[in-house]
Amino acid sequence: MDYFSTRGRAPKLGFADVLLGGLAPDGGLYLPSEWPTISGADIASYAAMPYAEIAADVVSRFTGGDIPDAVLLDMCRKAYAGFAHRAVAPLVQTGPNAWLLELFHGPTLAFKDLAMQLLARLMDYVLDQRGRRATIVGATSGDTGSAAIEAFRGSSKVDVFILFPKGRTSEVQQRQMTTVLDDNVHAIAIEGSFDDCQALVKALFARDRFRERVSMAAINSINWARIVAQTAYYFSSAASLGAPTRKVSFTVPTGNFGDIFAGHVARRMGLPIDRLVIATNRNDILARTFAEGRYEVRGVVPTESPSMDIQVSSNFERLLSEALDHDGAAVTRLMQSLGQSGAFSIPEPAMERLRREFSADRADETETAGAMAAAWSDSGYLADPHTAVALAVAARIPVSDVPMVTLSTAHPAKFPAAVEEATGVRPPLPPHLHDLFGRQERYSVLANDVRVLEHHIEARARAATQEA
Ligand SMILES: *Cc1c(COP(=O)(O)O)cnc(C)c1O
Repeated sequence: MDYFSTRGRAPKLGFADVLLGGLAPDGGLYLPSEWPTISGADIASYAAMPYAEIAADVVSRFTGGDIPDAVLLDMCRKAYAGFAHRAVAPLVQTGPNAWLLELFHGPTLAFKDLAMQLLARLMDYVLDQRGRRATIVGATSGDTGSAAIEAFRGSSKVDVFILFPKGRTSEVQQRQMTTVLDDNVHAIAIEGSFDDCQALVKALFARDRFRERVSMAAINSINWARIVAQTAYYFSSAASLGAPTRKVSFTVPTGNFGDIFAGHVARRMGLPIDRLVIATNRNDILARTFAEGRYEVRGVVPTESPSMDIQVSSNFERLLSEALDHDGAAVTRLMQSLGQSGAFSIPEPAMERLRREFSADRADETETAGAMAAAWSDSGYLADPHTAVALAVAARIPVSDVPMVTLSTAHPAKFPAAVEEATGVRPPLPPHLHDLFGRQERYSVLANDVRVLEHHIEARARAATQEA
C-alpha cells in the first residue's frame, strides 16, 4: 500500500512515513493509491465484535505491513480501554429511525480521542523502531489539542507543541490543554484565530531546515492515520444498524473535513452509505461550495461550536482530488488560486460527482440552540453545540427507511454555558475531570509570528538536540 500526494509532485510513501510526515513536500495531502475493500461478510461480522477489534481490522487494511497485525490489535485494545463506555462509540436512538453516534466517551470528551489515542501509539511504535524522536506541532480550535496532549503526555519519543487561538476556546477546552504539566507538553496561546494557528503550522512545515532539525510531525486531521482510525466507527455503527444489508446515512458536524472524509473512505471501502451530509455552523464555506460550486474564504465568525469555526477546510483537498480523478496539476491550480485570491471554482463535472454523494447545509446560532432545546425536550438528550449543528441540519431531511446517524462529537459538559443557555440544564463534568478548575495552568502566549514560534520550539524540542 503506498500513498501519493494530492498535488502529484511528491514521491510516494508507505504508511509509516505518511504517519510521521504530515503534509507532502509539494504542499499536498496523502491519499492511498487504491481503496482496500471490506467484504459484506466482514461488515456483518462487525455487529458482534468489540470496537477495538473492528478498528484494528479496518486500520490493518492501510498499513501495508508497516505495523504487524498483532501489534496493531494490542494498540487498539489499549487505545480504547480507557473509554468510559464499554461500546466505545455507542448509538443512542433519538427519534424515528434517527440515531446519535456518541464519540465523546474518551479522556478529553470529544471524538478526537478516538483517533489520537491510536495515533500516539502508532507514532511511538514507529519512532521506537527507527530509534528516533519527533516534535509535534499542532493547531487546535480546542479539541484536537487536548486530545493530542492527553494521548502523548509522558511520551519519551515525542514533544508536543499545541497552538490554540487565545481566548477563543471554551474554558474547559483551554484547561484540558494547560493543566497537563508533563515536561513534553507545551501549550501555546497565539494572538489570533484558529486559521492563523493553522497557517503558522503550515509555514513551519514549509521551512525545510526547521522541519528536519526538530523532526516535525503533524497530528492535525491532515494526518492520514487519524482519518483511517475514524473510519472504524462508520463501520461499527452501520453494522449495528444492519449493514451491509441495509444502507445508512450520516450527518457530520464539519470543520476541517477530517471526520466526514473518514465516512467517504468507509464508502470507498464498500460500506453501503446512502448520504453523507456535511453540517456547518455560520462558518459555512462548505455549504456555500455545494450550493454555488465555488470555494470562497470569508472571515471566521466565532460561534458556540468553536471546533467548527474554520474557513480553510484542509481535508477538503482530499475530496477535491477524488472528484478530479487525482489530477495533481488540476488540484495544484485550484489551491494556488485559493492562495492568491482566496477562492476557486470547482469544474462542473467534479461538482456533479460531489453532489451525488454528499449534501451540505448550515445551521446558525439560533437554529443550533433550538436543536439543543428540542433534543432535550423531545428525547431527554443533552447535545453539545457541535452535535446540535448537525441535529439541526439532519432534522430538515425527511425521515425514511434509511437510518440517519448524526455524529455526536463532544460531551455536553465540554460546552456547559451554551448547553445551559439553550436547555436550562448545566451538564456536570464526568468524575475524572471534576477538579479541572482547581488545577494549576501552564502555557505561553506568543504573537502570530512564525519566527517567534520557531525560536520557542527549537529551544524546547528534545529532537532538536539529537543527530539528524
Ligand atoms: C474537530 C471537531 C469537529 C469537526 O471535525 P472535522 O474533522 O474538523 O471536520 C466537530 N465537532 C467537534 C466537537 C470537534 O472537536
